[in-house]
Amino acid sequence: MKTDVLIVGSGCSGLYCALQLPRDQQITIVTKRDVESSDSFLAQGGICMLKDESDYDSYFEDTLKAGHYENDRESVEIMIRSSRKVIQDLMSYGADFARDENGELMFTREGAHSDKRILFHEDVTGKEITSKLLAQVRKLPNVTIFEYTVMVDIVCKDNVCYGAILRMPDGTIETVEAKNTVWACGGIGGLYRHSTNFRHLTGDALAIALQHDVRLKDINYVQVHPTTLYSPVEEERSFLISESVRGEGARLYDKNMNRFVDELLPRDVVTQAIIDQMKKDHTDYVWEDLRPIPEEELRTHFPNIVEYCSQKGYDVTKECIPVVPAQHYFMGGVWVDHNSRTSMEQLYAVGETACNGVHGRNRLASNSLLESLVFAGRAATQIGQQKDIPVADHALFENIDAKRYMDHQTLSRENHTRVRDAIAEAELEQKEKQDSYSGAIDGLQGRRILTV
Ligand SMILES: Cc1cc2nc3c(=O)[nH]c(=O)nc-3n(C[C@H](O)[C@H](O)[C@H](O)COP(=O)(O)OP(=O)(O)OC[C@H]3O[C@@H](n4cnc5c(N)ncnc54)[C@H](O)[C@@H]3O)c2cc1C
Repeated sequence: MKTDVLIVGSGCSGLYCALQLPRDQQITIVTKRDVESSDSFLAQGGICMLKDESDYDSYFEDTLKAGHYENDRESVEIMIRSSRKVIQDLMSYGADFARDENGELMFTREGAHSDKRILFHEDVTGKEITSKLLAQVRKLPNVTIFEYTVMVDIVCKDNVCYGAILRMPDGTIETVEAKNTVWACGGIGGLYRHSTNFRHLTGDALAIALQHDVRLKDINYVQVHPTTLYSPVEEERSFLISESVRGEGARLYDKNMNRFVDELLPRDVVTQAIIDQMKKDHTDYVWEDLRPIPEEELRTHFPNIVEYCSQKGYDVTKECIPVVPAQHYFMGGVWVDHNSRTSMEQLYAVGETACNGVHGRNRLASNSLLESLVFAGRAATQIGQQKDIPVADHALFENIDAKRYMDHQTLSRENHTRVRDAIAEAELEQKEKQDSYSGAIDGLQGRRILTV
């Protein structure tokens, strides 16, 4: 196969990138499962937007504070300044956000936000956004989507990427020659026993980056979500109880039904407090009380949570629910510059796969959909402006040993080990550098917690 741009991943970042690329580019999107199985479809809480200039400083400060001031300030500025344009684009694609009786956009608040600045669509904001992006992409004649198609490697030489090696739905190995390749492969939750992510998101781009010396950044910065519904049964994916419910008044209680933490503190701080409390109480969970939220609001703003808990036997309008932390988000990733270029030429990374430093050590809630879209748009702009693209040497494609990629299970196992080891190594390096590292929730700690 040959294409101008190969996009690996069909989440919000991959789709938005496709929509922002010039229409004369032939675009191929490949995705590991069906086109809707991406974390982007799962996002519940919402997407941040700079409401007006008066909120700029506090939005900037909230992002930095949550990130322990390790954020790349320019990335943060770009994200915040681009937010209105991205939201306008989304609305022009048909995305619908909650509005008040006067038709004005409504904003909600989540932990660590000092103001209400998050747009939402009930508690299925990600589905609303991503399904509308997908509908637009499907209309484009220059885009072809391959489902159940896995990138197993890239084709590269002398630090230039010329395309990728794919495992097709029938198990055969194909190559695709691309002038530019965009990794939009999402996070790493599939490597953890308890995670809110889809199981097939296993950091494949990272494993490939490690093999080809593509630079990585902050890969031990792994965020654990403080509150997922506890289940004694080992479930496929942990169900998230959105931070927005705490923003709207939900409380956390220990085994004696006493509050033990300020629920609006940043995620990592709340997570640590829950873990400490579980240890102290010798319990597998703490309680979350959604009853302080008026029933009407619970049902209109969080219908998905109300429904899911009801299916599991909990009436959130009448009783507390047991909650436990789970792996949730990857702040680190493939290092990129402010235009989403990786350290390898003609290779870009966007969304949760990439690390432009915007989140620092810890992501502020509802910044990730926004960051994914803003920097996917910048990758598209950059690709659109490119001239003099080196042409691939055909021998590179002819000499590929397809057999190497056929044994899916061995390859996955090797890749998972590679990524886990790299995270653990980065963690140790950091600990050595910073003795007093109080450790938000990091790779090693996170793994230990999540395998309890
Ligand atoms: C439960 C949950 C709730 C969330 N809530 C919010 C929220 O309220 N607000 C917010 O801002 N963020 C939220 N997030 C985070 C946000 O959803 C993600 O960070 C964002 O959607 C990531 O988008 P993405 O395009 O980078 O990746 P994804 O949407 O995860 O897409 C990754 C894509 O890559 C494909 N892929 C992976 N590996 C390969 C491979 N080897 N070959 C081919 N394809 C591959 C996958 O199939 C998938 O299509 C939430 C996340 C979860 C899990």
